[in-house]
Amino acid sequence: MTGRNSMDSFWMPFTDNRAFAASPRLMEEAEGMYYRKPDGRSVLDSTAGLWCVNAGHCRPKIVEAIQRQAAKMDYAPTFQMGHRLPFELASQIADLFPAELDHVFFTNSGSEAVDTALKIALAYQRSIGQGTRTRLIGREKGYHGTNFGGTAVGGIVNNRRFFGSNYAGVDHLPHTLNTAEAAFSRGQPKWGGHLAEELERLVALHGADTIAAVIVEPVSCSGGVLIPPVGYLEKLREITRKYGILLIFDEVITGFGRVGAATASELFNVTPDIITCAKGLTNGAVPMGAAVISNEIYNAVLAASPTGIDLFHGYTYSGHPLAAAAGLAALEVYREEGLFQRAAEMSVYWEEAMHSLADAPYVIDIRNFGMVCGIELAPRPDEPGARALSIFRTCFEEDILIRVTGDIIALSPPLIIEREQIDQIVSKIRDVLMRTE
Ligand code: PLP
Repeated sequence: MTGRNSMDSFWMPFTDNRAFAASPRLMEEAEGMYYRKPDGRSVLDSTAGLWCVNAGHCRPKIVEAIQRQAAKMDYAPTFQMGHRLPFELASQIADLFPAELDHVFFTNSGSEAVDTALKIALAYQRSIGQGTRTRLIGREKGYHGTNFGGTAVGGIVNNRRFFGSNYAGVDHLPHTLNTAEAAFSRGQPKWGGHLAEELERLVALHGADTIAAVIVEPVSCSGGVLIPPVGYLEKLREITRKYGILLIFDEVITGFGRVGAATASELFNVTPDIITCAKGLTNGAVPMGAAVISNEIYNAVLAASPTGIDLFHGYTYSGHPLAAAAGLAALEVYREEGLFQRAAEMSVYWEEAMHSLADAPYVIDIRNFGMVCGIELAPRPDEPGARALSIFRTCFEEDILIRVTGDIIALSPPLIIEREQIDQIVSKIRDVLMRTE
């Protein structure tokens, strides 16, 4: 340590590191709906950490499961050998997810889950003799993590600018956001279902025999909270099936209760070929993600390699004992407390409360689904994002954690939130909006 600023060494992700070093925002402890700052002040968490702490913070059952497992067996490989926990967890996930999706490939994050899903899609196409199908289709404003594959199919300009062109065969569907047609929609917008037909145009342009998979978030969260228009996901499923294109739902946020069911796939009654998940899988307590794969894909890939290793892919920590223990405990908490159902019920109050902000200053749209909400603000002239960022900072100083992306406030509280806490969030946001330029 030679005069180094103690805040300099950690290069923080998606952060203005210089501004942060000058004025850090730190958390020290967490419990239930709250973080605690180093000065002891409680912060109401309206973002479930980063869309992940669905059952609230530091739940004893999850904490104890991790502690027990750490003392019993810290690590064991899952290449050509294994241990019990990831088998148990995979089987529970298969029970919870749509019936045709019974095979779980564990990763350490949502980004890895996405790249795993894309690679498995390519492996499947090759396994069934469709090796020319290498093109991957994403969607504008989509977020699929930050690994190379997920960045390439992602549709957020800043994330792609330096890195997005590495995978040559990529194209994108148009996004579905249209505030002229569908502002202040409650739940699914009625306008926009027809945009799924743009996939027909991409098929006509590239040829179905070049396209391996389409990946979308059923509810797109990080890119600004985009709710699928009525009929949109159904249409995507229809067109992908017609052309032998796999459909991947990226449910890294929507999985495990966020939309009031185990998956958005279940809620919308549209079953893709692969679902990616992470975040709520362990309640955010230990990093873990997964690609949940259809029986057809799994059987085809295995059938194409009758001997030896069937898929040349994996991570040192796939199915890590601590993550698997946390995952099993998280699922138990969700089950015991009926949290997915609770989210479905609470989402009615949530919707009312969020839309009560429609007449607050600068609000130009409010979009909600399940326990997610996006409040879009008019940007300051020539300063996109600045207004929302200043609101984020003020809310944090005043002990409410919100999240902003561009000029959109994105909210996704733990599913244990009470009505009074929803009211508190709404009244703080209104209050700060009224004081903001
Ligand atoms: N996919 C989606 C839909 C996400 O929302 C995220 C993260 O927010 C990711 C992938 C990436 O997950 P991770 O940050 O765990 O890599």
